[in-house]
Amino acid sequence: MGNNSNSNREQDYSFGTKLLHFGGEIDKVTGASSVPIYQASTFHHFDIDHPPAFDYTRSGNPTREALEEQIALLEGGKRGLAFASGMAAISSAFMILSTGDHVICTEDVYGGTYRFLSTILNRMGIATTFVDMTNLDEVESALQPSTKAVFMETPSNPTLRITDVPAVAAWAKEQGLITMLDNSFMTPYYQRPIEHGVDIVLHSATKFLSGHSDVLAGLAVMANEELGNRMKAIQNGMGNVLGMMDSWLLMRGMKTLKARMDGHEQSAHVLADWLSQRSDIAAVYYPGLPDHPGRQIHERQSQGYGAIVSFDVGSGERAKKLLNAVRVPLVAVSLGAVESILSYPAMMSHAAMPREVRSARGITDGLLRFSVGLEDVSDIIADLDQALKQI
Ligand SMILES: *Cc1c(COP(=O)(O)O)cnc(C)c1O
Repeated sequence: MGNNSNSNREQDYSFGTKLLHFGGEIDKVTGASSVPIYQASTFHHFDIDHPPAFDYTRSGNPTREALEEQIALLEGGKRGLAFASGMAAISSAFMILSTGDHVICTEDVYGGTYRFLSTILNRMGIATTFVDMTNLDEVESALQPSTKAVFMETPSNPTLRITDVPAVAAWAKEQGLITMLDNSFMTPYYQRPIEHGVDIVLHSATKFLSGHSDVLAGLAVMANEELGNRMKAIQNGMGNVLGMMDSWLLMRGMKTLKARMDGHEQSAHVLADWLSQRSDIAAVYYPGLPDHPGRQIHERQSQGYGAIVSFDVGSGERAKKLLNAVRVPLVAVSLGAVESILSYPAMMSHAAMPREVRSARGITDGLLRFSVGLEDVSDIIADLDQALKQI
C-alpha cells in the first residue's frame, strides 16, 4: 500500500483502456463497479502490533489512492498524488526547493503560479527568472549556480505558445535541475511529459480531467520513487490533500476523458478554421492551425491539439460586446468542461498583468479564449456568428 502498484496488465493497455481498467476500478471486497468512497478520517487498529495499511486520511485513504494510482499509470510515472486544487499541487512541488534556490519559469505561466512564485516563494528566499521558454538560448542564459528547477507550461495560456519539452528537459538534466510541467491543457491523453524526460507533471484536474465544472482538484505525478517519496512527505506535512468525494468525482470524470477530448478537439479544429477565415478576426491561436508557431515541435511531443482556441476581435470594446452577446458558452474563468467556456484574459486571468506586458505577449484587450465544449459545433458557430454581427 501507499505506493502505486499497477500490474503489468494495466501497463500494457492502450490509453483509452487504461482510463477504465487501471487496477483499482473494482472494489476487491464486494466487486462493486466503482471505487468505494471511504468517507472516514481514521482507521481502526484491530491489532496494535500490526497497524492497518491506512491509518489516517491525511496520510492515505483508499479512495484517494485509487485515483493516485490511476494518474500515475496514465502519465507513465512512478507515483501520483492528489491535491485539493491545481495550485495546491503546483505550490507543493516547489516545496522541494530550499531557501537560496533559484527557479527558471516560463513567462507564459498560469497566473496563479506566477503569483505564487513572485509573491510567496520569493519571500522564502527562492527567486524566479521568467523567460520566453520557446527560446532555448534564453532558458540557458537564465542559469545561475543556485538554479534547481525549471518550470514549463505548454501549450501556454492563452496564446498557445509551444515549448520544446525534450530539448528543455535534456538540457536541464545535464545541469542537474528538476523539471516540472503543467500539463492541464493537454492531459495525459495528448501529452505525457515523463516520456520526454520531465520529472514532475502537474495538473489542475479542475479542468479537462474532471471535465464537468464541478470539482476543484490537483494532481502531481513523479517520474521516480525518490521524488515520489519527497512529494508524499511534503503533502503529508502540508495536509493539502483531495477529499474522498472529490477523488471519486474526478475518477468518474476521467472515465470519459478520451471520448470528451476527441469531441472537444474535433470541434475546436472546426471553430479555429472558421475563425481564421473571417476578416473581422485579427488573430487566431490554435496549435492545430497550419501556421501556428511551434506547431511542428508540438506535433513531436503531443498526440493532439486540444480544445482551447484563442482569438482576437480587435479591441476591448468589441470583446466586451461579444461577451454580452453570446448565448451558448458560459462567460467565465476556467476551461476544460463539457460546456463551452468563453474567458476574457484581459479582465480575468491576466487582469493583474500590466497592459503593456500583456499586449507584448499577444494578450491584447481584444483577445478572447474559447474552451470548446461538447455542444454541436454548428450551434457554437451559429452563436458566435450572430454575436459577431452585433458588435
Ligand atoms: C486552472 C489552472 C491552474 C490552477 O488550478 P486550480 O485547480 O484552479 O488551483 C493551473 N494551471 C493551469 C494551466 C490552469 O488552467
